[in-house]
Amino acid sequence: MDSEKNTGLSASAKATAAGLGCLRDFLDLLARRNQMVVWHDPVRPEPDIRNVSVAAGNDVASGPAVLLDNVQGYPGHRIATNVLGSFANLALLLGLPKSASVREMFFEMVSRWGSDKPLLERIPREQAPICANHIDREINLYELLPLYRINEMDGGFYIAKACVVTRDPLEPDNFDKQNVGIYRIQVMGPDTLTILSIPSHDAGRQMMAAEAHGKPLRASIMIGNHPAMTLFGGTPVGYDESEFAYASQVFGSRLRLTQALNGTEILADSEMVIETEMVLNERETEGPFGEFPGSYSGVRKVPLFKVTSVSHRHDPIFENIYIGRGWTEHDTLIGLPTSVPIYSALKKDFPEVQAVNAMYQHGLTAIISVRNRVAGFAKSVAMRALGTPHGVMYLKNIILVDEFVDPFNLEEVIWALSTRTRANDIMVLPNMAMVPIDPAAEVPGKGHRLIIDATSFMAPDNLGADPHLVSRPAGAEIDALLQRLKSMQVQGGEDE
Ligand code: MG
Repeated sequence: MDSEKNTGLSASAKATAAGLGCLRDFLDLLARRNQMVVWHDPVRPEPDIRNVSVAAGNDVASGPAVLLDNVQGYPGHRIATNVLGSFANLALLLGLPKSASVREMFFEMVSRWGSDKPLLERIPREQAPICANHIDREINLYELLPLYRINEMDGGFYIAKACVVTRDPLEPDNFDKQNVGIYRIQVMGPDTLTILSIPSHDAGRQMMAAEAHGKPLRASIMIGNHPAMTLFGGTPVGYDESEFAYASQVFGSRLRLTQALNGTEILADSEMVIETEMVLNERETEGPFGEFPGSYSGVRKVPLFKVTSVSHRHDPIFENIYIGRGWTEHDTLIGLPTSVPIYSALKKDFPEVQAVNAMYQHGLTAIISVRNRVAGFAKSVAMRALGTPHGVMYLKNIILVDEFVDPFNLEEVIWALSTRTRANDIMVLPNMAMVPIDPAAEVPGKGHRLIIDATSFMAPDNLGADPHLVSRPAGAEIDALLQRLKSMQVQGGEDE
């Protein structure tokens, strides 16, 4: 497979991608662009790691990744946090200027979307950096990882940014059905942990199939991954579509794979892999955990996994995430990979769809920009969005806006809500399937859908007394004028 086939990328994006083979390469890139800091001051596992992570993530536009190398109680360990916690870092990963807008990044990802032209290379274990160190006896996760509670009321230590690789237990040789996903992982003992995946997610489906058919289910937990892999670990793609392939194609990255001992494939250049096997028909009490909707999700019974071995690079970096009440790194990293597949699915049937912004809490709120083909058309687009793989469980509030409203510009969206909406343009669909950790659910797993059609009225609607829109001057001429005005602003003016 050669890189020339990957035509969706600009020359500069290809050059960036060619230099990125793993997390360390990306941290180096961020450091060169002043988007990473190394924190040498001593930190306590709690609350310091949490506090530094939150502080870095509070600058959503351009907060840095932070590499902490002086964690009390864990000499020699390193933790990376907020790696994709700002839009500047995401832009650099895409090979764009740090100042690229979210809208630009959205359309950049749209133009590259797919998995048919991946740059995947397979290398033997002996050549894989991740296999440089191997432990298969007296495994103690508490010594191997500088663990801490992400939020203070978490029920234990969570590994929250790892990519979990599992094969379909009924088709273990099917590469495309081999799944890579980010799930919450609670360490339960020195060599046991739980992995929470709801049945609608690919890994959950595989866990259920393994138990139903009495087949083994082995999971490789990859820590410290190429950021493209991390992004696709959280992206809803089809069950028989490979997240490895998507990550490689969309980010133009040549990803090297190697064999885990348990039969899964893993990234050869990740920092660490924890190989596990599910203990069939056993459940462990898991939680609470501060989740992305901003609430602690409660205690539940979750499949238990036994660690069979650990392999890692020399001086491995433990990459973790701060997640909780938004805005957090979770929202930044997952926002566009949530939005783009919904857009791609809608665009096939409805070319009138202009853009989708499902950045808010993993798509619990989404804004869709669409040109009404006929009056009321936008509502059908919303219904179609509810039927996309992600929409089924996550799209709770959908706001529809006209084709000239930028869904990434919340001032414009609120203008549409303020001036376009009528009571009969609001639909509530009660008692539907819903991601169980939505704190507003009627019961866990069931909740409402809210559709607000804030598009303009058209015949046969009653158009009202003042239907004619002001045409606001826009385009290249206005942009150039703003640039000129900015250059004319007095340089170095001090605040009074
Ligand atoms: Mg999958």
